This record gives sequence, structure tokens and C-alpha cells, in this order.
Amino acid sequence: MKEKVEKLKKEILEKVAKAKDLKIISDLRVEYLGKKGPINELTSHMKELSTDEKKDFGKLLNDIKQAVTEALDNKKNKFEEEELNKKLASESIDITLPATKIPTGSPNILEKVIEDFEDVFMSMGYDIVDGPELEEDRFNFELLGLPKGHPARDAQDTFYVKDDELLLRSHTSPVQARVMLAKKGIEPVRIICPGKAYRRDDDDATHSHQFTQIEGLIVDKNIKLSDLKGTVTVICKRLFGNDTVTRFRPSYYQFTEPSVEMDISCFNCKGKGCNICKNSGWITIGGAGVVHYDVLRGCGYDPEKWSGFAFGFGAERCAMLKYGINDIRTFYNTDLRETKNFDRREVE
Ligand SMILES: [Zn+2]
Repeated sequence: MKEKVEKLKKEILEKVAKAKDLKIISDLRVEYLGKKGPINELTSHMKELSTDEKKDFGKLLNDIKQAVTEALDNKKNKFEEEELNKKLASESIDITLPATKIPTGSPNILEKVIEDFEDVFMSMGYDIVDGPELEEDRFNFELLGLPKGHPARDAQDTFYVKDDELLLRSHTSPVQARVMLAKKGIEPVRIICPGKAYRRDDDDATHSHQFTQIEGLIVDKNIKLSDLKGTVTVICKRLFGNDTVTRFRPSYYQFTEPSVEMDISCFNCKGKGCNICKNSGWITIGGAGVVHYDVLRGCGYDPEKWSGFAFGFGAERCAMLKYGINDIRTFYNTDLRETKNFDRREVE
């Protein structure tokens, strides 16, 4: 019996030694160590033996099991290691090769200017509010002091979608009306509402039927024109440089009284005169004013108790001035050569 076991052991170990891959090792394991394998079969003869013989034979069987398991494991580890080394070699990285350039996008410069405005206003406690671009006549005109037939509507001719009640908003001021109505005349308002506006304009280098406004509104107790001037001055200094000087000229808007146009000293020539400021030393950047009594009343605020100011900047105009862009259409075409120049990482 002992010889038989030794012979089997020799036979198995030879086969293991000759095995060429993991599959063969796995098959050999099943064949010899499996339930129906010869080693297990030998175990079944135990019951035919005497106690002493059982002891010896048991040891013999353990030996062969151990030897076969060990041989199979060693061979398996060897194959696995070889496979891993092969894989590592095939996936090795040559760090001396030039890197692949990964194209990264850059934001539209207009978005960047809007974000700059938002940062400054948020630091001053303003909320940023959004509103519908498809607007009702009531919010776009009537509540803002422009009843039907008012001649000033001509300057804001826009695209009507349904009769003369639904239109693409001609400014972002209707958001202000909506916020005031929502606050029901009892809460103060401090918002900016950057967004797209539309007017029936023929597109050229300085006009676009779609443009972006950054309008703001404050309604509170005891707000005066001097507050407006102070706020706008701080904002312009933050956006265009600390040495920026502001100037306010009387103007006319339907929803504010008094109304002003806001100029800043030219950031390019510092007031001496250049082509950006058309040699005047000043650049107009927007309009503003103290909120008209009728607007306050129409939106639910008692003008005897509440007052406020509103202002509006043209985002495209600010971006064109700040970055020396001379055609407004640059913002809306898809020419990557133009946006690439304003990669955020380089601008900041
Ligand atoms: Zn200038």
C-alpha cells in the first residue's frame, strides 16, 4: 500500500512540475485533491486496516495531501507572479514622453463680468434674483410707469409672443416689480437681477437684439440719492480700480425720479483722454435713480414710508470696456479663438 501511495505521489508531482499554466494547475487540483480523486479514494480503504496500520496509513495520506497541495500552490503563485510582471511591463509609463495637452474650456467673458458684479454685490449684502425672460406686459411696462400707449415704450420695442400681453422682457426691471410684490410692502428689498433682455434692434458692432443687464434695487426706510451715489462709487472702485472717480448726470427714466446717468473716469487714460473714452476722460456705464413714487405704490409699498434706488449696468458694455472688445457680437458667436484669450486662470 505504501508503495502505491509513493508511486501516486511521484506521478502527481511530476505532472505538477510539467504544468504550463494556471488552468492546468486548477485542473490537477480538482483531479487529484477533489472528492472523486485517487487520494480521497485511498482514504476509503482505511476501514479495512487495523488500528496500527490506520495510524501509519493516515500519516502517509496526510503527507501526500500536503506535498501535492504545496506543489500546486507554489506553481500557482509562480504563474500568478509571472502574469503580474508581464502586465506591469506592458503597462509601464514612459515619463520622458511629452505630455498630452488636455483641452480645457474657458468661460464666456460676459459670464465672468457678471460673476465679478455678483461677487461685489453679494459682499454688500445683496441677494441675486432670477426672473422669467418671457414676461407679461404688466410686469415689463405697466407696473414700471409705462402704461399702454406711453411714448417711452417705443425706445424699448421688443418681441411680442402672444398679442400684446406676452413678450420677451425688454429689461430685467420686471424682476424688481415681482420681488416687491412678493414682499407685500412690508419687507425691505436689496437685490440684483442679472439676466438677458431683448429689444428689436438691428444687430451691429454696438447693438444686439439680445443683451445682458445687471440691475439692482434697494427699498428701505430713508433711502436717498446720496446712498445711491455712495453705493455706485464703491462698486465702480471695486470693479474698475480704486482710483476710479464717479460722475452723475441728470437723466430721464420712467421708473425713477430723479434719474441719473453714471459715468466713471476712464480707467485707461485716467481722465486725460484716449480712444476708449473718446477723449472725454469719462465713460458712461449705466443709469440709475431714486425709485418713482408710482412704482413703489404700484408694487405695494407706501411711498410716504418707504424709499429706494435702482440702477442698471450693461454687462456687455462693461465687458467691452474692460477687455477692449470692439464688437458686441463677439459675446454671442462661437469662435473659440476669442474666448480662449480670456481663460479664467490667466485673468485672475
Ligand atoms: Zn480714456
